[in-house]
Amino acid sequence: MTVILCGHSFKYETEAVTKLFIPAKRFDFLFVESAYSIPDIAGDRCVLIRNVYSGISELRADCRIGEETAVSSEKVSLSAPDYEHECELAVCRQLYICLSRLTGIRPSWGVLTGVRPVKLISGLLDGGMSEPELKEYMKKRYFVSYEKTELSVKTSRNQKKALEGLPENGFSLYVSIPFCPSRCSYCSFVSQTVGSFLRLIPEYVEKLCEEIRYTAEILKDIYRRPDTVYFGGGTPTTLETEQLLKIMKTIEESFDLSGIREYTVEAGRPDTVTYEKLRAIKSAGCDRVSINPQTLDPKVLEAIGRKHTPEQFFEAYEAAKRAGFNAINTDLISGLPKDTPEGFESTLKRIIGLDPENITVHTLSIKRAADLMQDPDSAAKAKTAEEMSRIARERLTDAGYEPYYLYRQKNQLANLENIGWERGGNPGIYNINMMEEVQTVIAVGAAGATKLAASKDRIGRICNPKFPLEYITRFDETVMERKRQAYEKIINSDYGFRRDEIK
Ligand code: SF4
Repeated sequence: MTVILCGHSFKYETEAVTKLFIPAKRFDFLFVESAYSIPDIAGDRCVLIRNVYSGISELRADCRIGEETAVSSEKVSLSAPDYEHECELAVCRQLYICLSRLTGIRPSWGVLTGVRPVKLISGLLDGGMSEPELKEYMKKRYFVSYEKTELSVKTSRNQKKALEGLPENGFSLYVSIPFCPSRCSYCSFVSQTVGSFLRLIPEYVEKLCEEIRYTAEILKDIYRRPDTVYFGGGTPTTLETEQLLKIMKTIEESFDLSGIREYTVEAGRPDTVTYEKLRAIKSAGCDRVSINPQTLDPKVLEAIGRKHTPEQFFEAYEAAKRAGFNAINTDLISGLPKDTPEGFESTLKRIIGLDPENITVHTLSIKRAADLMQDPDSAAKAKTAEEMSRIARERLTDAGYEPYYLYRQKNQLANLENIGWERGGNPGIYNINMMEEVQTVIAVGAAGATKLAASKDRIGRICNPKFPLEYITRFDETVMERKRQAYEKIINSDYGFRRDEIK
């Protein structure tokens, strides 16, 4: 597919919209100055033109797929506030209209391709828009379905409730453990499988503890009492019990945990936990765990390279229950290879039957580097994922679960989303913080991304090296020194850093 941009350079957004209809393809982009210089291209192509005359801009899409063509246009006034953005949005809408006609696909998030649709909805609700107004506005401006706006509104309201009473200058501590016992076929994280990286773990734990102590010391006048602690990865429970306890003890000695609202350890892979390990981390202060089956169908588990059985999941879940955690989350994925809507529904019903506090339903994300990218059947899979997403929404709502966080990733089947559901007033606050960027997150460990929230729209980022080997071997210069410089800027600027100041 060739995409020709004429009179503008809105490549990023138009590429994202094109991918909603024609996933997993490479697009060739051509930029031309005027309609007279548009080349005659053979094969599938979209021509996206901005034509300026008499005080207005006309944004036009002219698309061809196979033998079929579609043309659509709209106008934007040159005096429109935020003129460039309005033109970009208009050309995306026209592209959406043409590609919908040619493919028969109508992505339910419309032309919204960003990660955090709820953030936009929350802003509009805060600005005083009512739900019916919001539904019409999102439909007209972004082509978002009523159902997705409704879901976002519910999520936004539940988030607000969950964040009530959270101190404005509080923070979450994120501890990155990027190791897993084996690699799932759909994974695109930087996680290292234990087989080849086992030898790194003891030194990784040492460096991690050093970073925790150092971070606490340098930030003690600003960030001393975390609201939440979150161990993510990877699979943190890949570590031995003693290693986990050592990290938890270091946190306890370095920070003031008296105001802690939740303390989570992802025990994602059922094959990494025992009752003893769970009991030990519970005694050390953790009150939430995640035990993730992804699916309870053995043939689907095998297809995605998870090396555990459904029975191991139930045993791990039971062990977590016995250990006495306040909340247990279970992750599921819709759209997995070899799964069917019936199989997905059966998994979901069995999970609901366990009555966990949180159920997170992800949509499979197709990663360029992962094995699933080779799948020639992505259109059919997208349809199946949509069906599963509907099933999840209906079953979970019927069972009394409420959506409390929602985000999207690149290349998700059918352009869908991931949704965290909770029941009984037990949302994961860290998840909301992280997604909606409402609070500072101080991250430690390889691939940890610290996000410093100075105000609602000002976020400073400090990223640690991605891989454990680099984290360990270049610890002094890439972790300690960079963090020292970045944190000093914050301290000296009395929170007045600019978005681009800290990298
Ligand atoms: S458990 Fe998660 S992080 Fe680990 S390999 Fe599987 S998908 Fe990747």
